[in-house]
Amino acid sequence: MLGAVVVVIVNDSAGLPNRADLLHCALITAFGVVAAELGRQTERRRRRFAGEAHVNFTSVWMIPSALLLPPVLFAAVTLILYLHLLFRCDWTRPGCCLTRTLYNTSNIVLSCQATAFVAHQVRWFPAVQSPGARGLFALVLVVAAYFVVNTAIAAVQVAFWGVDRSPRNVVGTVSDNVLELATLCLGALTALLFTSHPWLVALIFVPLYALHRSTLVRQFETAATIDAKTGLLNAASWHALAGAEFDRARRQGTALGVLMIDIDHFRRVNNTWGHLAGDDALRAVGDALRAVVRGNDLCGRFGGEEFVVVLPGSGPEVVLAVAERVRARIAETHVVSAAAPGPFGVTASVGVASWPGTATTLEELLLAADSALYAAKEGGRNQVRAVATL
Ligand code: GH3
Ligand code: MG
Ligand code: MG
Repeated sequence: MLGAVVVVIVNDSAGLPNRADLLHCALITAFGVVAAELGRQTERRRRRFAGEAHVNFTSVWMIPSALLLPPVLFAAVTLILYLHLLFRCDWTRPGCCLTRTLYNTSNIVLSCQATAFVAHQVRWFPAVQSPGARGLFALVLVVAAYFVVNTAIAAVQVAFWGVDRSPRNVVGTVSDNVLELATLCLGALTALLFTSHPWLVALIFVPLYALHRSTLVRQFETAATIDAKTGLLNAASWHALAGAEFDRARRQGTALGVLMIDIDHFRRVNNTWGHLAGDDALRAVGDALRAVVRGNDLCGRFGGEEFVVVLPGSGPEVVLAVAERVRARIAETHVVSAAAPGPFGVTASVGVASWPGTATTLEELLLAADSALYAAKEGGRNQVRAVATL
C-alpha cells in the first residue's frame, strides 16, 4: 500500500492535471461505475451457485487510465471504482473488508504505474497512429506490463497472506488468466476509443457484459462435473471420462486399472462427531487421493463415502502399488474439523481390478473392483484386495 502511495507521489511531479485529463478521468470513472452496475445482476446469479469473490472486469478501465491519466488521477479512478465495488457488490460477502479493497487498489495502482512506464518507453500514442504493426506491438507490450505486474503482486499477496496457497490459487487457473487477458485487450481498445471517439466507448459495454456472462457458463460447467464436497469428479463425469479412457485402452491395446475405495466404518464418524465432521473427512480423503495419483489419473466420488480412480496406462503391479499408497495415505491422514474436539483418523478399504483381464466393459471392471472391495472389507478393512482373475 505504502509502495503505491510513494509511486503516485514520486511520479506525479508534472503539476496539476489539465482539463483534458479531468474530462477523461470523469468519463472513465462514470463508464466504470455504469459497467459495474450492469454486471451486478450477473454477479448475483453467479453467487447463488458459489460464494467466490466478485469477478473483476475493472482492468477494462485501468488500461485507459494508465495510458491517458497522470498517476494521481489513475489512483483516484482505481480507488473510486474499487470502493464502489466494495459497497455495491462485495459488502455482504464474508471475508470482505476495507483493508482488502485497499490492498487490491494498491496492486492496481502499481500495475498502472508499470503500464504507464512501458507506454512512455514505447511511445504508444504515436505508435498506434503510425501505419504498420508498430501500434500493435506497443499495445501488446502495454497489456503485457499490466498483466505481469498485476499477476506477480497478486501471487505474492496470496503466497504470503492467502488462506489457500496452492499453486493453482497463487497464479490462477488458465481460464482466469485468459479472462484477464481478454479484459486487458478490451481495455487497450477502449483507450484508443477514448483518444478519438470517447462516446463510442459505450459500445464496450456489450462485449464486457458477454465476457461477464461467460463466467456463468464456466461455473455451470464446473457445477455439472465436479463434486462440491471433495472437488473430485462427480459420478456422471467420472463415468464419461473413464469410459473414454477404457475405449482408448481397448483400441490401443494398453493397460488400465481401476481402484474402488470405501471409507471404513464411516457411519461411526457421523455418529460420533456429526455429519459436518463426516464431510470434512470426505474432503480429507479426496485431498489424499489427489496427492497420491498422477495428473492423468481420474479420481471421482462415486457417492456417499465411495471413491473411484481410473489409472490409464498402468499394469496390474503398478495399480496395486498405487492402491497401497492410497490406503496408506488415507490411514495416516489427520482429519481436522471444527465439529470434532481434535484431529481424528479414518481408514479405507480398496478393491482393485485391471484391464486386460476377464472384464470386457468398464461396468464389468467396476463390478470386479467392487467384489475385491467387498473381500477387503471381509478381510478386516484397511487393506487392498485385487480380483483373483488378475
Ligand atoms: P463399512 O466399513 O462397511 O464401509 O462401514 P460404513 O459405516 O462406512 O458403511 P455404510 O455404507 O453402511 O455407511 C456409509 C455412511 O456414509 C452412511 C451415510 O450416512 C454416510 N454418508 C453418505 N454420504 C455422506 C455425506 O455426503 N456426508 C456424510 N457426512 N456422510 C455421508
Ligand atoms: Mg459404502
Ligand atoms: Mg464405508
